[in-house]
Amino acid sequence: MTAPATIELRDIRFSYPGGADMVFDLKIRAGEKVAVMGPSGSGKSTLLNLIAGFERPQEGSILIDGQDVTTLPPDKRPVSMVFQENNLFSHLSVRQNVGLGRSPSLRLNDCDRQAVESALMRTGLGDKADRLPAALSGGERQRVALARVLVRNRAVLLLDEPLASLGPALREEMLALIADLHLEGKMTIVMATHAPEDAGRLTDRLVHVAEGRIAGIGATKDYLGGQAPEGFRDYLGKNRA
Ligand code: ADP
Ligand code: MG
Repeated sequence: MTAPATIELRDIRFSYPGGADMVFDLKIRAGEKVAVMGPSGSGKSTLLNLIAGFERPQEGSILIDGQDVTTLPPDKRPVSMVFQENNLFSHLSVRQNVGLGRSPSLRLNDCDRQAVESALMRTGLGDKADRLPAALSGGERQRVALARVLVRNRAVLLLDEPLASLGPALREEMLALIADLHLEGKMTIVMATHAPEDAGRLTDRLVHVAEGRIAGIGATKDYLGGQAPEGFRDYLGKNRA
């Protein structure tokens, strides 16, 4: 495994065409697990997409492991990203979907193939490797996405509401798996989520995003334990109501 990396957003300004200005300034430590929480449309996905390179800021710079990656395309950044759904290619088997993490053209050497098999075992998918994604449950599909993260072996893992479509038991199982991957790989993890329980279970620090900016940052246990600024408590209250 590679070592975990710091992530730094320096004076980032970004807007979609015709959209409001978003502003992000944030430092994440190597190996940290950070939750990004805030209302729908507040900019959580945009923040992750900027780190991953799916969006480019109009101003400012993004550093990963101290390297300026602002102009690098997503595949050149040391980042893996898992979305809420549609992480897989429907015409490829589970094994092939995982293999893509090693080679986009699926030209795998023995070492790659070994890594794929081991990731399939690790995520409990050994007996489903030849299935197509349509023949899996939602939870299994997310495990395939995590198996691919494992074989990619990147220093940063971005999770955009990865558990939002799963029931409580599966969420618990997936959170445990993500925590395990973190222990093994010591990746830096940034997870956008609406669920305080998920943030509390996995993360050390919580970033509150509101209206395209960072409204507050604190220890997850303080933020969820009632010691957050009023704005965040309002958000939680509304979310729970
Ligand atoms: P969140 O993930 O917190 O729900 P997003 O980052 O997806 O929020 O969206 C932030 C804002 O940017 C919203 O106002 C949303 O409508 C807008 N937005 C998101 N994606 C696009 C896009 N591809 N084009 C234009 N506007 C977008
Ligand atoms: Mg989003």
